[in-house]
Amino acid sequence: MAADTQTPLFIRMHERDNVAIVVNDGGLPAGTQFQNGLTLLEAVPQGHKVALIDIAKGDAITRYNVTIGYALAGIAAGSWIQEALVQLPPARELQNLPIANRKPPEMPALEGYTFQGFRNPDGSVGTRNILAITTTVQCVAGVVEYAVKRIKEELLPKFSNVDDVVGLEHTYGCGVAIDAPDAMIPIRTVRNISLNPNFGGQTMVVSLGCEKLQPTRLFPKSIIPIQTQTQEQAEPDVVCLQDAGHIGFQSMITSIMQTAEKHLIKLNQRQRETCPASELVVGVQCGGSDAFSGVTANPAVGYATDLLVRAGATVMFSEVTEVRDGIDQLTSRAATPEIAEAMIREMDWYDQYLKRGGVDRSANTTPGNKKGGLSNIVEKAMGSIVKSGSAAISGVLSPGEKLTQKGLIYAATPASDFICGTLQTAAGMNLHIFTTGRGTPYGLAAVPVIKVATRNDLARRWHDLMDINAGRIASGEATIEELGWELFHFMLEVASGKKTWAEYWKLHNALVLFNPAPIT
Ligand code: CA
Repeated sequence: MAADTQTPLFIRMHERDNVAIVVNDGGLPAGTQFQNGLTLLEAVPQGHKVALIDIAKGDAITRYNVTIGYALAGIAAGSWIQEALVQLPPARELQNLPIANRKPPEMPALEGYTFQGFRNPDGSVGTRNILAITTTVQCVAGVVEYAVKRIKEELLPKFSNVDDVVGLEHTYGCGVAIDAPDAMIPIRTVRNISLNPNFGGQTMVVSLGCEKLQPTRLFPKSIIPIQTQTQEQAEPDVVCLQDAGHIGFQSMITSIMQTAEKHLIKLNQRQRETCPASELVVGVQCGGSDAFSGVTANPAVGYATDLLVRAGATVMFSEVTEVRDGIDQLTSRAATPEIAEAMIREMDWYDQYLKRGGVDRSANTTPGNKKGGLSNIVEKAMGSIVKSGSAAISGVLSPGEKLTQKGLIYAATPASDFICGTLQTAAGMNLHIFTTGRGTPYGLAAVPVIKVATRNDLARRWHDLMDINAGRIASGEATIEELGWELFHFMLEVASGKKTWAEYWKLHNALVLFNPAPIT
């Protein structure tokens, strides 16, 4: 591929594909002739598919060597394949899947890479040093928000080693069917977020008093001592707003600020130290995807995923509806039959969850995805799944669960950006990689988010929001390998304290819990 962006270019993902996507910014006009002789019969927007050969009505449309749909009409070579011409194939059944039958490529260990992190008493490592204030219920959110503002203004400047103070506000805690089986998902999510390595084990809680999610239910006695290992912290510090001792609003704020100061003193003693790259816990996801996501940014992330796994680190990939159509690729890559079965169990649970709501996986794609050239969920999934690289899958997490092992992990979560980020935070990630083609200013308060643009045009326009430009792969200025290494080195820098653009501007999205259980 030439670096000259004026040359008409398309990208075909596999030699057996009968379609390719147009690379050039702004798309290409009718009559454009490519180097191989193909001439466009009509204008094709950037990222959209062009037919490489004549495709008859009913024939398979193939991208990534996968049938992404069937032609609803005859399509001549050089035509724009619009979404309305593509029929969605049925979802792959969850029976008779290939199970742990694919040996991953040889992956030699990668040694000697380090970052400067905050090591915790439980062995985990933080990339930031943050005081988190856990909340049991939405009722206290306004009070916590007010207290956090005061703590940032009056206390935080005295503790130079502490990066930030964050209120873990959410919409759960009361008015919910808390004994429903699926309620365990939001409850363990709130619990496990407060135990994220970036919070240094300094758990403090603000409770209302009458809520369903009582502090003792959020933190059963068995949970806290294991995490913090010191008697002094055997129970989280709880400020209860309905305590009879509180006379007036200022009394509540004073109480929260005094508790916060105690924990800030402890957090301020944390120092960065040299840690091996194996202590990275990276969550990868994509959002605002386009047809380039699966060509540039996601393959580069997949390459970096392999580097991380080789370095002994942990990488989580997620987003059930965006891997559902590639389930056979995943079950065959499972390290053991048990891991493959666990993935099938998660997919089946999600199929049933969607069915209860009267939809299926095709509800995933957005108007922006389609404008960006993605015809349907199969095409989107094939581009999304490559973030997982090529290593064997060594573990599976249900939504809201905390990691207990290293390696490449499938953490089952919805594809919703905020919910996936929330659940990966609960799993214990200390670094987040986010790819986007349409563009989103997404960020998290608890964990640094590295954003990777799929296109040069987006990277140019959002130059102070995108951290890495993978569009250089499409224009021939960098290879997937080069971008993967660049991302790997950048991750070590950010893990050591370098600010991402989202951190620089203090952009972050709200925590959004996944609550499949009923509301009362
Ligand atoms: Ca997403």
